[in-house]
Amino acid sequence: MTSVTLVVLALDAADVRHAENFGCESILLEEHTEMRSVAHRLDHPHTGEAWPSIATGLHPRDHGITGHGEWDNRILTGLSRLAHRLNISGEIRGKVEDVITENTDQGWQLRVVEHPTFLDGEYRAVHNWPGVHRNESLHYIWGLFQQAKDDEISEQTFVREAYTEAASKFGWLQEALNHEVELAAAHVHVLDVMGHLHPENEDTYREVYEDVDGWVGALRESMGPDDELLLLSDHGMEASWTDDEEPGRHSWRAIASTTLTDPPEHALDVKEWVESRVVPLTPERSSAELPEDQLRELGYIQ
Ligand SMILES: [Zn+2]
Repeated sequence: MTSVTLVVLALDAADVRHAENFGCESILLEEHTEMRSVAHRLDHPHTGEAWPSIATGLHPRDHGITGHGEWDNRILTGLSRLAHRLNISGEIRGKVEDVITENTDQGWQLRVVEHPTFLDGEYRAVHNWPGVHRNESLHYIWGLFQQAKDDEISEQTFVREAYTEAASKFGWLQEALNHEVELAAAHVHVLDVMGHLHPENEDTYREVYEDVDGWVGALRESMGPDDELLLLSDHGMEASWTDDEEPGRHSWRAIASTTLTDPPEHALDVKEWVESRVVPLTPERSSAELPEDQLRELGYIQ
């Protein structure tokens, strides 16, 4: 007997408009919608805040994880410059600089949420999920992104690592389907980092979407007839060809798509959506072993 598995694919920065424009049928699945995300520290959604919100159903101010990545430093740097220009007191300026240090330090780490999530449970397999489980995968790509921006590694090397890391998540999901799991989830970061690198190069970004679309298609083929898929993003990506204000900034055009019906329309609805659709696995382990032990105790078998 194989279990019925709900696969949850966290496709960072998947933008509903780009997916539609580029004709990504696998990403759009049977039904898709623009999903409203959350933002707390900035006026646009951020990876470190949004994924823990999606997993817990809590707003960032309630789960407390408001980590920010390297590329938001511009805003903090602007704040610092403003503090100097206005000649504000040393204490306030020091606080601004503390925030900058906290967000740029090499040792900076995204924390992990303490609240319950839909990823909890022995039969829910998770590769990684920002702010919830195994952040090291995200830290690795963030670190390499910074190295590529600082010219310490070539863009080709960065792309190789971003692609192979993403492909490994799809391979992991396919293998998880061969085991007794009621839910299998993984976070894939390649659309985010490639979007930050090429927000003004439609052809390049289209290719990345087509590659990811192919991976999603292959994942579907490996799923059993009763398995289902929920695909989510935390935000989209502003781009030059979509006439956005600031290409390379996170857009509000997050996506939710599914092989089921009525994908969640708000990031904070996802937990309930998943919990009401996952098929709980009742393992045979205990029932198969107990009678044997009892029979042995009674002396019927040795
Ligand atoms: Zn993100």
